[in-house]
Amino acid sequence: MRVINLSSGSDGNVTYLENDGVKILVDAGLSATEITKRLDLIGVKPNEIDAILLTHDHSDHTKGIDVFSSKYNTPVYAHERVWLSFDPKATRMSSANRKTFSGDFTYKGLDIQAIEVPHDVACYGFSIENNNKKISILTDLGHTNDRILSSIANSQLVYLEANYDKQMLLDSKNYPLSLKMRISGPNGHLSNKASCEVVDFLARTGTRQVVLSHISKDNNTPDLAYGYMCQHLSVHGIEEGSDICIDVASTKPGMFFRIK
Ligand SMILES: [Zn+2]
Ligand SMILES: [Zn+2]
Repeated sequence: MRVINLSSGSDGNVTYLENDGVKILVDAGLSATEITKRLDLIGVKPNEIDAILLTHDHSDHTKGIDVFSSKYNTPVYAHERVWLSFDPKATRMSSANRKTFSGDFTYKGLDIQAIEVPHDVACYGFSIENNNKKISILTDLGHTNDRILSSIANSQLVYLEANYDKQMLLDSKNYPLSLKMRISGPNGHLSNKASCEVVDFLARTGTRQVVLSHISKDNNTPDLAYGYMCQHLSVHGIEEGSDICIDVASTKPGMFFRIK
């Protein structure tokens, strides 16, 4: 199984996953043209994408989905609650390519667990498993709970949101109070602190690779998120690099992980 970040953050989220020749995207939050360019960088043609898994209907996850699906006849899988939040008239995607699931499902040998997460629209993270290889993608959630944590436990790799630094968000002059409250509320996004608590859990339950993702371009920086994690994990006896490896995904394509 190999996983490549094509883009992560406020400006667009696209993750590529390949297993035994099956090629999928999780979200399509860049234009179809940009996704095609980035696939080209990794030697993948857009018509080779078997399916797109969609987490939720926010533009940083859906921007290119209509055009990409229409142009390359790509099926898009989303939870029935996610499709309910789409306006069917506003999409060019054919109804045949709208694939609905209502719980966990299997796609071409991949066991896909849909993890309902608290966000301000219907939203799902994913655990994707094959042959004891398991990766999880968990972004756009205001908080975690035992159900979510047990869903991602035993993953070899977790893409985990570390959206904002609390102080930067509080100090922001560009964000109105209502937006600050939405982001930091129970249905908003994970702060560095909240994300760190999840990494602590993952390190103690066997995960060896975390990719901090969906970093806010206004209220966080990759260095700040990474530094916060290392410092606070160390206080709890967990060392980055030996107990768990932490990388930070950005809007630039790159970061290649092979799960064996
Ligand atoms: Zn998002
Ligand atoms: Zn969102």
